[in-house]
Amino acid sequence: MSSVQIRDVRKSFGGFEVLHGVTIPIEDGAFVVLVGPSGCGKSTLLRMLAGLENITSGTISIGDRVVNNVQPKERDIAMVFQNYALYPHMTVADNMGFSLKLRGAKAEEITAGVKRAAEILDLTPLLDRYPRQLSGGQRQRVAMGRAIVRDPQVFLFDEPLSNLDAKLRVAMRTEIKELHQRLKTTTVYVTHDQIEAMTMADKIVVMHDGIVEQIGSPLELYDRPDNQFVASFIGSPA
Ligand code: ADP
Ligand code: MG
Repeated sequence: MSSVQIRDVRKSFGGFEVLHGVTIPIEDGAFVVLVGPSGCGKSTLLRMLAGLENITSGTISIGDRVVNNVQPKERDIAMVFQNYALYPHMTVADNMGFSLKLRGAKAEEITAGVKRAAEILDLTPLLDRYPRQLSGGQRQRVAMGRAIVRDPQVFLFDEPLSNLDAKLRVAMRTEIKELHQRLKTTTVYVTHDQIEAMTMADKIVVMHDGIVEQIGSPLELYDRPDNQFVASFIGSPA
């Protein structure tokens, strides 16, 4: 676990600024949800946290280390994407162990890491199966297994449920929350779905056109929205 500090972060693509000085303090062990309309900069911010995108200006720290120039592999962060493509030719166990293997872990470390992650996610009976033999929900759990196998300091989720049907989406919300309650890993979770944000977050960050409109608990945003944008966004149906 680690705190994450995003301080006055700006991002431009080819001279066009898409994040205009974003500051978000994230406490150690918190479950923070970034919410906002499509195109407001959520994924860009998450990719900067993961080290997949350069920071134009400002700083990002994980724990007490400024990570602006730290490579993704050295950040101790795990990310679950919307399109959680599993490796089709690998078993569940190999899918989950792959990131450890890439980092040069020994065979027994890989086995132990996969075993632990499989127990947490209820995947032990499925370890020898291939992705095509799994349901949508099971595949999603394997994608999470790949993320937790390294026991990272920070989890990043980018709309991980948006390709699932409504029923599975609700079930997976609960699973992800339970996982967080169990592991207490600092989590930054991106969604454009305000219901998802309201039900999952300790703290919600409402973004709009590259700025932060408001940060607060679900109740604070609901009771005391700072402005019209927050009020209408939080109040509108998914
Ligand atoms: P969100 O995830 O909130 O939908 P994004 O972070 O994907 O938003 O995008 C924010 C803005 O940055 C959008 O206007 C998008 O077109 C632009 N953008 C994102 N990635 C790139 C890129 N690689 N090159 C140019 N523009 C980009
Ligand atoms: Mg996005």
